[in-house]
Formats: sequence, C-alpha cells, structure tokens
Amino acid sequence: MPFSLTPLLGKRPTEGREQFAVERVGTVVEPRRRMFELLKTDTSSKARVGRLTTAHGVVDTPVFMSVGTQGSVKAIDPRELREMGAQIILGNTYHLNIRPGMDIIRAAGGLHAFINWPAPILTDSGGFQVFSLATIRKIQAHGVEFRSHLDGSLLFLGPKEAMGIQRELGSDIAMVFDDCPPHTSTPRELRAAVERTMRWATECREQPRAPGQMAFGIAQGGTRSDLREECAKALVALEFDGYAIGGVSVGEPEPEMMRAVEMTEPFLPANKPRYAMGLGTPAQLVELAARGVDMFDCVLPTRVARNGTAFTRQGSISIQPGAYKADFRPIEEDCDCFACRHFTRAYLRHLLNVGEILGLRMLSVHNTRMFIRVMEEVREAVMNGTFGEFRRQFAANYVPTQKVLLARAAVAER
Ligand SMILES: [Zn+2]
Repeated sequence: MPFSLTPLLGKRPTEGREQFAVERVGTVVEPRRRMFELLKTDTSSKARVGRLTTAHGVVDTPVFMSVGTQGSVKAIDPRELREMGAQIILGNTYHLNIRPGMDIIRAAGGLHAFINWPAPILTDSGGFQVFSLATIRKIQAHGVEFRSHLDGSLLFLGPKEAMGIQRELGSDIAMVFDDCPPHTSTPRELRAAVERTMRWATECREQPRAPGQMAFGIAQGGTRSDLREECAKALVALEFDGYAIGGVSVGEPEPEMMRAVEMTEPFLPANKPRYAMGLGTPAQLVELAARGVDMFDCVLPTRVARNGTAFTRQGSISIQPGAYKADFRPIEEDCDCFACRHFTRAYLRHLLNVGEILGLRMLSVHNTRMFIRVMEEVREAVMNGTFGEFRRQFAANYVPTQKVLLARAAVAER
C-alpha cells in the first residue's frame, strides 16, 4: 500500500485527516491543480486511464467507489478500506441529512472528520432516494416535497438544498440534484424528468460550494437516444467538472443499461471524468470501462456479502451451501484480501451458518477488494496495451447470474 495507516490510529479525527492529506498529496491540493488528466486511451476500445485530483487527494481511474450511504461502508472500517486500496468512498445527502442531521456533521467539522475518512468523498445529491425511497407529496419547480421514509415527516429537497447540504458535508465531489425516473417510465415521464434534470442542473451550478469541491452533472433520458443526447449536451454546456450517467441500475436489464451508457458517452467531453451511477457486477464494470466510463459505485460487494455471496473471477458464489463444509481453500486462490489470506471457505461458511458477524465482515472485505483489484487490473492493462486481451479473458471466465443471462437472451431474440 502506498501509505501508512498509523494516522488513523489513536488520533482525533481532524488530526488524522490533516496527516493523511499531507501523506497522500504532499499538501492540500492547490485549486489550479484540481483536474482530470487523461493518461492513456485503449486502442481496442474506449477504455481510458486517468487521474482525478481532488481537494483530499488523487484518484486513479477507472475507479470503484465503495458506498458509505450512512457514513460507513457497511461492516468495513476506514483502516481496512485503505489497506485494500480504496481511493474514494460515497456518502449520501438524503440519508445523512435525516440522520444524524447537518447540525451534528457541522459540529464535527464536516463529513471527512465525522467519519474519520481523510481521503476523497463523493456525495450523491439525494435525488435518487427522494424519487425511489420517499413518498413524494409534490414535485415543484425548485424541488420535491416528500415524506421521510423513516418517520413520515414532511421534508423538501431541491437543487439549492442538495448543494447546500453537500457544501456543509464538504465532499470532494458534489452531485447535482436530478430527477431519476424508474425503468418503467412512459416516454412522457422520461421527457419531463429530463427537462427537470436540466433545469435543476442549471440551478445547482449557481450554488456556492465548499472550498475545492467539484460538481458533476447527471445525464438522464432512460433508453431514449434523443433524450440522452439532449440531456448530455445541455449539461456539457454548463461546464461541470465531470459527468455522470444516471437512470441506470433502476431495474433495467443489462443490455438496456449498456445501451444507455453507449447513447450518452459520445456526447461527453474526453477531458472530463465519466461516472456510471450504481453499477454493477465485476464483469459489467470491465465492459463499462471498455465503453469509456471512469468511475463506478455499487452496493453489491457489501450487500451480497450479507447474504453469504462472494464475487470471484468465475462469477458470484454462495459460500453457505454444504459443498463448502470441508473446503479448506480460500474464497479465491490468488486473492490478496485479508479474508483469503487468513481464512478458508469451510470456516467462513461455518461463521455464516451460526450467524457470526465475522463471516459477513470477511465476505464484505473480500468482495470489496475484488472490485477494487479488478479496476487496478483494468488500469494496468490499458497502460500496457493489453486491455483487449484482458477484457476477452475476463468475460470468458466470468459466469453471469441467471438473471443477467436471461435478460441477454431476451434481447437477442427481439
Ligand atoms: Zn479475497
């Protein structure tokens, strides 16, 4: 690992944060140096390697970002995350604003200090949660009136509020507040969502930000190529620091998700990072990197770990069945994660069977390291000019889930 972990031990959060910034980037990065550098583009695909310099350090892309919705990557502590090469994590405006509330995070000195994570943080604007989790009361010109999913209290979130909260959280990358419609939306609903997203992006752009905080636009448009193009072009005209492809991972089958990315990517500038929101499996990440995506976030590694599922180069496997009862191999032979270096499948299966927390923690560690390592390998392959072969081999080894296979077959028949 390129950095020592001692600053996280036995220090107050703010001290740790300062220590880390000094170690990682020499000093807190000068504003003029905060940027995205494109280091290499693959010749066989649109895959790229880049370097994103944020206020809290450098992020090498393509990158997998672990999701810490509630201010914690579930079951994994910051020291473990750094040990396994995590460069940047996610926080969520909607959830953190409800609990613990901004007065607490403000008093702690911002999100980095509150959660003791001194490296880069990207915060989601809360738009996705408002449209998917909360009960919407009224969509207004400048935001959404909704009832909290927790206690039903009436809340309001719009571009101004979402950017204001992210400013106080002090994240390195703030996302605009967008309208993320479900996969089942009608063309009319999609059009309305795109118009709202473009209007709200303009409002977000005008809001003040934390020192050094970048802002990313989010392109919507579902599976309509005309809407994807229109939305992407409108956002690019606003000159954001990066661009996300939203409206994916909303229940659509894999081929539609790939198409949504392919419809949007050509309209995004090469010199800015591209982020596919909420995706995907390791095999999908490699394919999306091949389509020119630089940043990914997904709850899968930690969510499926809690169901006893591990990701491997051969696809996902469930550790719990009896087949592993006396299997004294690690989850994956060549994996360098803590779980694979120390424990066997038989032991992990036993822990899961008797409901010991260590079992799901170790699966979370393995899965997260697996996602991070795949991105490390993508970067290496692009730099070496071997990405085409890496991609081919990865796809050949990886057995997708039945759900993904069925979706591919259904689209092939059309
Ligand atoms: Zn492992």
